[in-house]
Amino acid sequence: MIEIKNLHKSYKMGSNALHVLKGIDFNVDDGELVAIMGSSGSGKSTLLNIIGMLDVADEGEYILDGIPIKNLNETKAANYRNKFLGFIFQSFNLINYKTALENVALPLYYQRMPRKQRQEKAMKYLDQVGLKEWSHHLPSELSGGQKQRVAIARAMVAEPKVLLADELTGALDSTTSYEVMDLIQKINDLGNTILVVTHEVDIAHMCKRIVYLKDGVIIKDEKVKQVKALAHV
Ligand code: ADP
Ligand code: MG
Repeated sequence: MIEIKNLHKSYKMGSNALHVLKGIDFNVDDGELVAIMGSSGSGKSTLLNIIGMLDVADEGEYILDGIPIKNLNETKAANYRNKFLGFIFQSFNLINYKTALENVALPLYYQRMPRKQRQEKAMKYLDQVGLKEWSHHLPSELSGGQKQRVAIARAMVAEPKVLLADELTGALDSTTSYEVMDLIQKINDLGNTILVVTHEVDIAHMCKRIVYLKDGVIIKDEKVKQVKALAHV
């Protein structure tokens, strides 16, 4: 699903450059649940943003579902992004004046799906994250965990090939974090490919594979022997 070869990324800092990704080699198969784990500043978000086509690498190859992601114009990149990728962020990024249902339906609006179809589909995904009863509530009326569930439904509604989550539990308490990860595991069980960026060991161990990033290089990449479940974290 994802093939990355010798990926490099630097940020220009005045006359200097900060070399953030220093030759990343990394593949993800269809249906995997992978944690990208590392301390703050190790380059996790930079890598995820490149995978998510929000940023481009300076060097190296990136192939997504057989398509080389290189030299795409903004329109084409935006099209691929909407079709292939679903994003989940630490800060939820919901629109405050829209209901849960409207937030989830928004990506379908941009796809020009008719209103009735949009709402039906959004409701289906809200139901999948356990929030059918909350569809007409505003984000301000929801708990942190509920907001993140809405964001997960929104990421899924366009049925992307890969879900990308950057510190999705970063703003949640431990119990709520484990509950959100339990939902992520259930969504992965349905066959969805998911990448979770985290600096938290216990969150990483709720994934099936952990890629350890340190100072812009992968120092370890291993299967989790005993994937943690909500019942025993
Ligand atoms: P992580 O997500 O693992 O905390 P990041 O990928 O966000 O790490 O950042 C890696 C390094 O790159 C950090 O030193 C950060 O300060 C720097 N960095 C990230 N984004 C930018 C940017 N847009 N411009 C300059 N430096 C950046
Ligand atoms: Mg980050």
